[in-house]
Amino acid sequence: MVSLFYTPRLMPTKASPSKSENAFAPRLKRVRAAMRDSDLEALLITNPKDVDYLTGFHGEDSWAIVAPRAVFVVSDFRFQEELDAIKNAKLIIRKGAIDEAAAGALESFKGIGVQAEHLTVATRAKLAKALGAKRLVDTTGLLSTIRLRKDDSEISLIRKAVRIQQQALEETLAGVGPGQTEADIAAELEMRMKRLGASGPSFGTIVAARANGSKPHYRPAKTKTAKNQPLLIDWGAVVGGYCSDMTRTFTFGRWPKPLADVYQIVLEAHLAAIDAVAPGVKCRKVDAVARDIITKSGYGEHFGHGLGHGIGLDIHEGPRLSKQSEETLEPGMVVTIEPGIYLPGIGGVRIEDDVLVTDRGRRNLCSLPKAIDWATR
Ligand code: ZN
Ligand code: ZN
Repeated sequence: MVSLFYTPRLMPTKASPSKSENAFAPRLKRVRAAMRDSDLEALLITNPKDVDYLTGFHGEDSWAIVAPRAVFVVSDFRFQEELDAIKNAKLIIRKGAIDEAAAGALESFKGIGVQAEHLTVATRAKLAKALGAKRLVDTTGLLSTIRLRKDDSEISLIRKAVRIQQQALEETLAGVGPGQTEADIAAELEMRMKRLGASGPSFGTIVAARANGSKPHYRPAKTKTAKNQPLLIDWGAVVGGYCSDMTRTFTFGRWPKPLADVYQIVLEAHLAAIDAVAPGVKCRKVDAVARDIITKSGYGEHFGHGLGHGIGLDIHEGPRLSKQSEETLEPGMVVTIEPGIYLPGIGGVRIEDDVLVTDRGRRNLCSLPKAIDWATR
């Protein structure tokens, strides 16, 4: 999914069966090291994805507190049973407002970090009033930086999400032809992902028929697929809270001009960019590899978004692969590679895979075909 146009939304997720309790200890170690670097005695986690990352709990309206020797989850009675199963955190079941319960638990600490990017101004003011403004320290990106590099249990969940989305697409494609609405195809694909074990789609599935593919963030509607017309599908699954994200572009019969040429250019850019992924490589360099190929072919102005983004608990997280990116690839990062060319009135071609940065290079986690013969149906 193209990140520039994305509005974040939280997907409901259920249990994370393959997250072992041991997975959390190394994560907490890294968080506590970052807390020491910032002179923090405690850290209040108000981003639900970060609560999940550190405890395995993903109910809504719940916060976590990381203290030097314990982790607390501040939640309410609705989640009592689920929380009883979370062994690595102590439980605070609140009776009143969540900020009051958190302030009570934080009373004995001095330097209390809050997540500036995940706290409203109003809630921060209430915490400051309860605890004293001097004790609150604004942090930004503390958890998202740690989450950049995935551990083995995270990678295995992303792999599982990829497997499910690929199988669901193959099953759906078997019944797809001209004359079907985008909304029907999207519904079928999402249903199949759920049947195969996904807790849901990792974002609103994009199915764009005919010229609609030129809109990178299109929402499927009543347009019908047609002979000799393209079909762009950008979809992903959530497994154990972790997202996958792929795009394929098809046609039924012939490709309208000049999309057959465009397909080959996008594929060339996609493959070259994947080959450029390796630890130590600047993210903007990988973007440039794809962008140069598209620009030299004369379509530079029709590739208006960044090459890719990190995936994990969020569908869009760091690092960003774009012209402006200052980040460098490191082992354990999982990034999408998704060049596209968009021609208004004709259609768009985008090809997207999820790639793991390894110690020595890269591993493509996706295995669906990409050759134009396969995409011509
Ligand atoms: Zn995508
Ligand atoms: Zn994407």
